[in-house]
Amino acid sequence: MTTTRTIPPNVHQSWHAQPSTAVVAALESSLDLGLTADAAATRLAHFGHNALDEHAQRSRWEILLAQFISPLILILIAAAIITTALGKISDTIVISVILVLNAVIGYVQEHRADRSVHALMQLAAPSATVIRDGRTQRIAAKQLTIGDIVILESGDLVPADLRVLTATQLRVDESLLTGESVPVQKNTNPVGDAALPADRLSMVFKGSTVAAGRARGIVTAIGADTQLGDIATQIRAQDRPKTPLQQRMNRLAYVITAAVLGATVVAFVLGLWLGNPLEEMFLTAVALAVAVIPEGLPIAFTVAMALGVRRMAAHNAVVRSLPAVETLGSTTVIGSDKTGTLTANQMTVVEIYADSQHHHGPFTSTHPQALTPALTSILYATEAKLTLDGDTIVERQGDPTETALLALAHDCGIDVNLPRTLLVTVPFESDRQYMYVIVDDDGPVLHLKGAPERVLARCTTQASGTGDKPLDHDALVAAQDAMARRGLRVLASASLRLDENTPLDQDAPIDATNLTFTGLFGLKDPPRQGVIQAIADVRAAGVRVVMITGDHATTAQAIAEELLLADNTTVLTGDEVEQRDDATLANDVTHVSVFARVTPKHKLRIVAALQSHGHVVAVTGDGVNDGPALKAANIGIAMGQSGTDVAREASDMVLTDDNFVSIARAITEGRVVFANVRKVTYFLLSTGAATILAILATILGGLGLPYTPAALLWLNVVTNGVQDVALAFETAEPDILNEPPRSPSEGIVSRILWERAILTGVMLAAGSLWLYLWAQQADAPLAQQRGAALTALVVGMATHAYNARSTSRSVFKAGLRGNRLLLSASIIALGMHGIALTFGPLQNLLGISLFAAGGWLRIGGVCLAVIAISELHKWVRRPKTQARNVT
Ligand code: ATP
Repeated sequence: MTTTRTIPPNVHQSWHAQPSTAVVAALESSLDLGLTADAAATRLAHFGHNALDEHAQRSRWEILLAQFISPLILILIAAAIITTALGKISDTIVISVILVLNAVIGYVQEHRADRSVHALMQLAAPSATVIRDGRTQRIAAKQLTIGDIVILESGDLVPADLRVLTATQLRVDESLLTGESVPVQKNTNPVGDAALPADRLSMVFKGSTVAAGRARGIVTAIGADTQLGDIATQIRAQDRPKTPLQQRMNRLAYVITAAVLGATVVAFVLGLWLGNPLEEMFLTAVALAVAVIPEGLPIAFTVAMALGVRRMAAHNAVVRSLPAVETLGSTTVIGSDKTGTLTANQMTVVEIYADSQHHHGPFTSTHPQALTPALTSILYATEAKLTLDGDTIVERQGDPTETALLALAHDCGIDVNLPRTLLVTVPFESDRQYMYVIVDDDGPVLHLKGAPERVLARCTTQASGTGDKPLDHDALVAAQDAMARRGLRVLASASLRLDENTPLDQDAPIDATNLTFTGLFGLKDPPRQGVIQAIADVRAAGVRVVMITGDHATTAQAIAEELLLADNTTVLTGDEVEQRDDATLANDVTHVSVFARVTPKHKLRIVAALQSHGHVVAVTGDGVNDGPALKAANIGIAMGQSGTDVAREASDMVLTDDNFVSIARAITEGRVVFANVRKVTYFLLSTGAATILAILATILGGLGLPYTPAALLWLNVVTNGVQDVALAFETAEPDILNEPPRSPSEGIVSRILWERAILTGVMLAAGSLWLYLWAQQADAPLAQQRGAALTALVVGMATHAYNARSTSRSVFKAGLRGNRLLLSASIIALGMHGIALTFGPLQNLLGISLFAAGGWLRIGGVCLAVIAISELHKWVRRPKTQARNVT
């Protein structure tokens, strides 16, 4: 069959009803070579991408519009209309400037955030294995086109509608399409033309997952033409949901707005009652509301989230769902796989037990004769491949356990690329814990390898130098145990010469139990670099780490001890989990730190048991059956390198390097996001409180208003406008991992912060009034009095932004330059205010002018006082923060 450049004439046919060879011919492809790169490119251009109408990104206009439809902004717009109606055009101008400034900052930040978050999430987009130009390659699923030959393995997400061309025990979960959760066996036989999609056993459909087995298929439909495409248009999810923190923040913003409006009305009524002119009071009330409403909060939130997503991606954690960013920060338990996540997945065979003896590596071509049967088993029972250049291994393809075993055979001087006739291959699946092949070696011979318990259960004899002997089960178990105690991952091998007449059907597993045991292999897999430190770090941060592994209990325990996973390593096995009811298991999970020989089904129960204690559980997974546990966990973490598509689809986060260290980093970043949102909110609360208090006090004291409406609006520009967003850029505080996880129900602003916001607010207000009165008493002109009062607030608030950089640490420890953006924001804000104080037109607009030099000294005093009160409160409240930490 040849591949051509042409587009096949008719791609809409009943492919399920035709023989597979006819389908390949009609679609002008080839089972072994696939399409040529050229043909694929031509077809891709013709048929378009294999993508459902993607969850559309918001357009620029939508983002811009969104800046104006928040209730906070609507109040501003109303204020602008009112001031225009009253003929106060200068106020209208200032309000408009605020509106535009807010919209621009909001737009720029959100646009950038949207783009980068979208781009980062794409990193976790599905891919597919295809054959093109005769080469097997991994491409983005989007790039698939009609006629592509796709290779499917268990755990893969079916990337398009495919006609099955070859199949080995292929079972496919089509629940997304049919609602039927039992996997369906598929094969290559054509079905009736009129068969409904659910009955088309010769087809696999986009969006279903391969539950078991292997297959090759040819792409017959892509994108919206697939069966899923039909459904997707009906069920497409609208609007992205708001994250819990976002919802809580929105509620807080409403509460603040309501409080501000209430205070404004009070100020207005009081002012009138005490004889202030109506129009002035009205404008002041409007300006006050505008100045104090925290319209910057939503922007700061977006920025904090986007930065969190970006930092996590930089540390190899790709977030798939935004709420994960904040949930991560409150994680209390991490349930981690062992192989590849905690360990390096770089395995070497260091020990072999064969012919009743332990043999220790390194192994060379002068190995004892006794090893030969064991080496023969693993040479055949494998799906891995080594590429050699002379005598050196240049590439390892396949499962690291298998390549390590092949490398051993190579070291022992065996030709690992010897041609062999494979009759049957049954691949390894974690649920089964073994794999086997049947090769033609003067008749069919079965070679099996897997977890020792599983293999030994099928053996009746063992190989020895003097022929086969009866199986010494106890000695073998003791040997395995000795290896496992040294932290080695142990596999057993066995073989059996089959009767010539044994039916060899891929799809009907052989259930032989009279095998000959050939050897035990001990593989060393060292801890990943940095994992021991990362475990120590997260444990210090009050996060428990439990290992959930398919490996043997003794091996798992030895490694857990090496990693210092817990003070006392207690192990529970999958069988024990099986025997326990939910209540007993819930009791056990409080102290067990290693779950061994567990299957994904057990994992789900372990997650539920941990959650029953109120734990926020992050769990890793890679296998085809890990989906439910990943979904059930508060944070499902999939392995980007070794993981299956199914695991990725079910997860909230994907680790591109499969590394535990990245989980620890992501938790830190999750905490940073929350901490920053909290800092911004606290800052906005305290400055808002200051402004309201100052106005209420002057009204009550009958002192005349210290700020013109325009000046209040100005305050909004030079303090809240930029400094609050700058606080969202704060990096991790050094002690962020010394604190226990935050309770998920904890409010954005804690009681301690409410207290501090009021205290510092009072101090700022008092400082401003002090300067106002000082200028009044010196008989300075009104503009100077107001200039002094306003400047005290502007400079005091700029100083206070530095207090807000840490909620617990002293401002002197946090330093001045740690946040460059904040530093520039303060310099710009103060510079602008300096201009306003001296530049005629602005002076007139704001009703202020430069005051006597003595004022500056006093303003310096106000700043010191604001720092002092914040420091004092941090200090007084610190013991209490720590007391809470212990509980
Ligand atoms: P984790 O779940 O932490 O990744 P794991 O990788 O050890 O742990 P599995 O891959 O489920 O878990 O392996 C379970 C057992 O199956 C291993 O201890 C080993 O004895 C056996 N085993 C693993 N890989 C193979 C393989 N390719 N062929 C045969 N047996 C295997």
